[in-house]
Amino acid sequence: MVTVEKKETKHLDAWEMAVSQLEEVAELIDLDPNIVEILSKCKRELTVNFPVRMDDQSVKVFTGFRIQHNDVRGPSKGGLRYAPSVYKGEVMALAMWMTWKCAVVGIPYGGAKGGVICNTKEMSMGELERMTRRFASEISIIIGPEKDIPAPDVYTNPQVMAWIMDTYSMIKGYSVPGVVTGKPITLGGSLGRNEATATGCIYTIEDAARKIGLNLKGSTAVVQGYGNAGAIAARLLFERGCKIIGVSDSRGGIFNPEGFDPNKVMDHKKETGTVVGYPGTRKITNSELLELECDILVPAALEGVITEENADNIKTKIVAEAANGPTTPKADKILFRKGIMVIPDILANAGGVTVSYFEWVQSETALFWDEKEVNTKLRNIMDRAFNNVFEIREEHKCNMRTAAYILAIERVSEAYKLRGIFP
Ligand code: GLU
Repeated sequence: MVTVEKKETKHLDAWEMAVSQLEEVAELIDLDPNIVEILSKCKRELTVNFPVRMDDQSVKVFTGFRIQHNDVRGPSKGGLRYAPSVYKGEVMALAMWMTWKCAVVGIPYGGAKGGVICNTKEMSMGELERMTRRFASEISIIIGPEKDIPAPDVYTNPQVMAWIMDTYSMIKGYSVPGVVTGKPITLGGSLGRNEATATGCIYTIEDAARKIGLNLKGSTAVVQGYGNAGAIAARLLFERGCKIIGVSDSRGGIFNPEGFDPNKVMDHKKETGTVVGYPGTRKITNSELLELECDILVPAALEGVITEENADNIKTKIVAEAANGPTTPKADKILFRKGIMVIPDILANAGGVTVSYFEWVQSETALFWDEKEVNTKLRNIMDRAFNNVFEIREEHKCNMRTAAYILAIERVSEAYKLRGIFP
């Protein structure tokens, strides 16, 4: 009972946070209230409860969501998350953030997100495949290369995308590679997609470092989360001469002020299932990790980790949000007051969806690019977006998040003005 109540309070949080971010910027730029009204709702919300045969032959009913926030700038786009903590309000918020993210980097998509409440750590490959295929079949009525295109997110990966692509293709009767991105390379995935969230994040960190006169070589970095975004971001920072002094995963964090090799930490995690216990480091909690003194802090796990409770204790120069929604609006104001440059999620982690867009273009045209071409195009898009946001920040004397929201919301609202309201 207590858990349910707690969960429901949390339900309100992510979505309320997303709507309050929108409303605050809407007021600042005097946005047409009709547009605010449209954007503060999700256009299409699908909840599915579906049965899956488990290995012990029992049948378990899972709950999943696919939510499309907006598609005025193009088909909706966004990842699919598998976690026990998934709830509808979270998926709605993540869908809205995808709308802004695609608009900030100027790729022709709207925003969507999906999620299934499950614990992948307790499931066999067979169970995971059957759950994914059944979920894909349930949401097949609203996804498609011209409609809504899922991709990997927390605890999903290229294999999960391959199952979705196959299931959707079986329903259609022909192969439809463009229905998902983040596919394995063999099935039409893009080179560089797996690393893209981290790569894009590093490009924005380089841009930010240049602006504040920080040399990455010899600087110190802390990374929260050791999944696709966090582990690769740590590696890329290390390759640029950054000293990685702290990292963590869901089981806890590790710290060594002298720094360590994040690749070796990855090997340790592969062997033991966690970064904790990596030789030569001290175990710390995830909250202690966020408060370590460093030059660059990369939250790369879940939302709501930097709050009004700990924001005052954050001792860094740059926060690069590889995760979606790691900083609450109240914490944002504290960090701004402290003079910390926050590269907001909708900019910092937009590299993932940008290379997803490249993958979709390659899938649709059946013409594939080499990794250098992918990364050059990614760098151009990230640098341009960073500079656009930075200019708005100067002009409005606001923080980078507000500036990114101004850019995104103006682009979306411009699309409404041009298209008009049907009928
Ligand atoms: N899940 C990633 C995100 O939150 C990628 C989405 C995509 O590639 O569509 O941005």
